[in-house]
Amino acid sequence: MSDCIFCKIAAGEIPADVAYEDEKIFCFHDLDPQAPVHVLMIPKKHIASTDDIREEDQELLGYMMGKIKDVAAGLGLENGYRVVINCGEDGMQTVKHLHLHILGKRKLTWPPG
Ligand code: AMP
Ligand code: ZN
Repeated sequence: MSDCIFCKIAAGEIPADVAYEDEKIFCFHDLDPQAPVHVLMIPKKHIASTDDIREEDQELLGYMMGKIKDVAAGLGLENGYRVVINCGEDGMQTVKHLHLHILGKRKLTWPPG
């Protein structure tokens, strides 16, 4: 998607503070961190939201799930962390490219706001 900010970040067209990258995913530090560690994990493929995940994306999504622990370990989140996906208007999704928030290095409250 040519006008998607996260596609541009994944392509290196917009600078980001990279935490991890491989051929399938890109992880970078959030510009407006909500915890001492706040990283976003995105698929390089443009998928707008969890509502837009298709059958063919299952392998990619499974790959992302499996990579969370490696990225978290690389960020020093040995004491735990939270993974959040916002979707749609009520979910307060602001960027329409699927992303996992990985938050840690503080005690996170529950329920979320
Ligand atoms: P969401 O509200 O779930 O759609 O999350 C979007 C996240 O992207 C927010 O936490 C923003 O702070 C973050 N964000 C937006 N633009 C950038 C950017 N250029 N670099 C890093 N993080 C960004
Ligand atoms: Zn995109």
